[in-house]
Amino acid sequence: MTSDPLEQLRVALRSAAVDQFAGVLAEGLGQRLREPTDRLLAAGVGPQERELRHFRGGLDRFEERGRQDRSRVVAHGLRVCLALSAARSDVAEAGKPKTGRRKQDLGRRLGKSSAKAQAGADASSSKSESAARTDDTAAPTSKKKTASKKKTASKKKTASKKKTAGKKTTASKKTTASKKTTASKKKTASKKKTASKKKTASKKTAAGNNADPELTALRAAAEQRQASVELLPGVGARTRDKLAARGLETIEDLAYLLPLAYEDRRRTSSLQDIEEGAAVVIDGVIRSFRQGWFSGRYSATLRIEQVQRNGARLGLEARWFHPVGGLGQRVTTGAPILLAGVVKRFRGKLNMVHPDVLDPEHGLGIALRYPQVEGIGQRTLVRLCRAALERLRAAKLAEPLPPALVREHGLPGQIEALSALHDPPDDLPEPALEALMRRDSPAHRRLAFEEFFFLQLGLLRQRGAYRSVPCALPPLAEGSFDSERLRACLPFEPTGAQWRVIAEIERDLARSKPMLRLLQGDVGSGKTAVAFAAALAVLDAGAQAALMAPTEILAEQHLRSLTPWCEKAGVRIALLTGSTPRAQRTSLLALLAAGEIDLLVGTHALLVEGVDFARLALVIVDEQHRFGVEQRGALRDKGAAPHLLVMTATPIPRSLALTAFGELDVSVIDELPPGRVGATTKVFAGARSLGRARAALVERVRANEKAYVVCPLVEASEAIDASDVEATAAALRKLVPKTEIAVVHGRMLGREKDAVMQRFRAGEVRVLVATTVIEVGVDVPDARAILIEHAERFGLAQLHQLRGRVGRSQGQSLCLLHTASARDSDAGRRLEVLEASTDGFVVAERDLELRGPGELFGTRQSGIPRLRFASFSGEGMKMLVAAREAALKIIDEDPTLARHPALRLELRLRTGDTQLWAGESG
Ligand code: ADP
Ligand code: MG
Repeated sequence: MTSDPLEQLRVALRSAAVDQFAGVLAEGLGQRLREPTDRLLAAGVGPQERELRHFRGGLDRFEERGRQDRSRVVAHGLRVCLALSAARSDVAEAGKPKTGRRKQDLGRRLGKSSAKAQAGADASSSKSESAARTDDTAAPTSKKKTASKKKTASKKKTASKKKTAGKKTTASKKTTASKKTTASKKKTASKKKTASKKKTASKKTAAGNNADPELTALRAAAEQRQASVELLPGVGARTRDKLAARGLETIEDLAYLLPLAYEDRRRTSSLQDIEEGAAVVIDGVIRSFRQGWFSGRYSATLRIEQVQRNGARLGLEARWFHPVGGLGQRVTTGAPILLAGVVKRFRGKLNMVHPDVLDPEHGLGIALRYPQVEGIGQRTLVRLCRAALERLRAAKLAEPLPPALVREHGLPGQIEALSALHDPPDDLPEPALEALMRRDSPAHRRLAFEEFFFLQLGLLRQRGAYRSVPCALPPLAEGSFDSERLRACLPFEPTGAQWRVIAEIERDLARSKPMLRLLQGDVGSGKTAVAFAAALAVLDAGAQAALMAPTEILAEQHLRSLTPWCEKAGVRIALLTGSTPRAQRTSLLALLAAGEIDLLVGTHALLVEGVDFARLALVIVDEQHRFGVEQRGALRDKGAAPHLLVMTATPIPRSLALTAFGELDVSVIDELPPGRVGATTKVFAGARSLGRARAALVERVRANEKAYVVCPLVEASEAIDASDVEATAAALRKLVPKTEIAVVHGRMLGREKDAVMQRFRAGEVRVLVATTVIEVGVDVPDARAILIEHAERFGLAQLHQLRGRVGRSQGQSLCLLHTASARDSDAGRRLEVLEASTDGFVVAERDLELRGPGELFGTRQSGIPRLRFASFSGEGMKMLVAAREAALKIIDEDPTLARHPALRLELRLRTGDTQLWAGESG
């Protein structure tokens, strides 16, 4: 992201517009659109203001809109954006040729020519961009730059560094200061902008040209790729705008627009032997054509005749129920015709509804279907994509993937692949065409590999950047880790898996580079003890550690489990949450800053301004997927390149782990502490199953057990048919009147929740009716039953988490899943996955298959990229692993890609305007 609200808006809109506006459903999109729009409005946009306000109006209640409606708003936004940037470049680039806007745009992406790059300090620019910019100035080629250039470069560097810092410690004083500077700088910059931009830009480009022929060539190539679609024959402003409304602005955008489907229309079929329902092409002679409005409805009927092998004539009737432009002119009685469509039999006659009318001379061939672009027909799209491809071919651009990789993996070259996709030859063998249809052709594989490769390259390069800052904490000496001391503090012997992970962490801590480790372990596998071991090692070296949890309940629980261990170890532990009383908070912060607290446990409250550590060397983030990447970065910024350990109990399929957390090394605790039996899971499906499910739970309660009941809602809703906490509690009270039943949900205050949890733990409350606030981490070992009502409303991984609340001690635990849907429905079958498996990884893989990666974590924030060509399942996984290995090999040899300018440029082009990944921002 950049600080330019227009650019930011454009990026958000484009990410929403891809693949038939699939992106409009992304979480948080409304906010991402409103924010820059409001900034634009505040800054003033001139004549476009009315249109922009109109668009802004559409963003109100965006979240409540349906997909169609959202798509309309986004399309409108894209048009407005286009008008805005056109207006902008009119001011800035008056007198330049038509392509000027694109060029300038490109220049900005390359961090070279725009006033923005000069102003530099841009409080919200992403790390990837600023890092890339820094790199570019630090590239080997900069040697030849003049002294004054170097100055600018280093200034930029400082600015962009500040920027990164600014983003992360948004709350810290420093930032406020630097933001102010930013604001004032920007102002000055924008004042001067119009006057000086053009000059500086051209000067710089010239200097750049002299500096390095290779880079110049790369830039020129990039310019070709990013040239406006207007350069294509027959594309004027109107077509351009229509394409832009779908996010297709450049030659490259079109070349990379994948056809959705292919149809084999190379042969005609005889009516005498066609199968009903098959898509075929029929050649014939026109017998009659009739069109008109009949009782208010349009209809057109075309009768054709086809001569069969035996000489017989068979007729076919084609019908249209809406006007088709030019149809009347194209059909003349007695003329030959080709119709493509599905043949059906209706009242004994063969007919086709809404067939395509093909050119009788050149109509046969492989037909392509592209995603809909409003106002542009399929034929035009085919032509435009081919024309775009031809331009790329003519430009003789270098292959974006390293050629050695292309060879090694037996992939087609870029142009070859694109050409196979947009322009398959008519003599393509049947199996190859089928592969195209399945999206499994070599060309598809090539694009998928390319996508994964650059994704991984970006992630690993970010990791390299973070790792290049040495830790403040000196490497722990080999063997300094005291396992006997750990044993003495813990009330149990760690499992083999726990010891293995502790050893992995110990090895990380013995290096001067910061640890970046993801610890996965199923619920109840004992991650807290591992975190404690890591903290102990760091604390013994005289530094501090922080443990951040997503909820207060969880933070408090961590404090409770860690306190006795810390007491034994002589570690000073404290808790900081949003509900820590003010006075206590003040003294706690003073202690923390003085280094008198060793281990600080808390929630988001750890991230705010004023929480300053004396010597923070280890950051542990629990249930990490619940935090945005930014928050992870913010906590890390409170120390000097601290070690990072993120923990998650949501088993993450390896494919996702490699992408969403691609910058992290992964450890897995794959063994549960002894004596765990897990839970037996039963599904209660069907309209009247809720009563039976509750009865089954009550049976356990009557046998003196503690139980959880989870409901989707806090209070009754008219719109959603699902149970709510209060109503369920009331129903249960009727069933077991003498049992104490309490509720807990997210709308309660922290201390209210605590009080209830405390009573549940102590056994005063025997049934806890809750929302998903209890989803993660809550540990009440003697609760052995859980009922989840309307379980179909939750993801499988989430249900697995909820199920993890029980089965934490000796004795058989029970998990009851209720759904009002039938067992034999999608929802019912999904729940059966849980009945069949208690292995979190199996469940997660199935969830990934069934619902896609975005759903697995219930949030887009988690940094899972949206893939255009690749997929996480099946073959995709192999490709991902291969791409990662390839990227790793390059990064290992050349961490900043200094020796790979082409790859660096490619990365930047790819991240400049699509959120290909949302990696660590630090
Ligand atoms: P999670 O991985 O879900 O965070 P916890 O760290 O909360 O799991 O551990 C779950 C429970 O198991 C806790 O009560 C903890 O004390 C206990 N525990 C952890 N490790 C062991 C072990 N090696 N042996 C016995 N109990 C253990
Ligand atoms: Mg835990």
